Amino acid sequence: MLSVSDLTASYGAIRAVRGISFTVASGSLSVILGSNGAGKSTTLRSIAGLHRPIGGSVMLDGSNIARLALHNVVRAGLALVPEGRMVVAPLTVEENLLLSRFSGRKGTGDTLARVFDLFPRLKERRTQPSGLLSGGEQQMLAIGRALMTEPRVLLLDEPSMGLAPSIVDVVFEAIVALNRQGQTILVVEQNAAIALSVCDYGYVIKRGEIVVEGTPQALRENPEVLEAYLG
Ligand code: ATP
Repeated sequence: MLSVSDLTASYGAIRAVRGISFTVASGSLSVILGSNGAGKSTTLRSIAGLHRPIGGSVMLDGSNIARLALHNVVRAGLALVPEGRMVVAPLTVEENLLLSRFSGRKGTGDTLARVFDLFPRLKERRTQPSGLLSGGEQQMLAIGRALMTEPRVLLLDEPSMGLAPSIVDVVFEAIVALNRQGQTILVVEQNAAIALSVCDYGYVIKRGEIVVEGTPQALRENPEVLEAYLG
């Protein structure tokens, strides 16, 4: 469904992503693992139209979307849940969700109801300013906002970041539930333990290159992954 080939991205002279290639199969939950500064966010931002890659292709259902403007990437069917969540604090939960609705694909379903079904907590707090939500609730809102565009592939940048372990579990349970409903998902994570407990397939990125890939079981047994990411 999503096929990235030889993607290269820089910040001036700094080469953050060095020719990486990977695929995300339709209906899968795939992860990219890596430590701080490995190039995970740059990879996702390059795919999502927020950073212009200097080379490579990003094929979504057969079309190359690598050079499209952000709004056209969203219309093509990719939605990013950014690191740090970036909810619009003064707007209510519902306003944040509805704002995003306009940028998405022309869907037919009642996406607001779907988001509230997935996250009943957001429904309870729909009229409250988003800035008053807890970190976990803001992460739910950020995921809900991305879902409002009815993405073919949902991209999540470190959904566990800054959350208490019990809240990380709640967020990942929702990610799994979404995937079971058929949503194709790509997550980048530093938290290898939780990511490998839910994914179908994983890639490990180091200094802008994919160094290992495989099923979660194979990655868990890989000595390098064990030492570097699973302690
Ligand atoms: P983190 O978990 O810290 O977000 P990451 O794996 O997502 O790490 P990136 O944020 O993609 O890594 O960063 C990859 C490399 O690019 C790092 O060396 C980083 O210092 C550099 N980098 C990232 N953003 C910028 C920027 N705006 N300007 C210059 N260099 C950057």
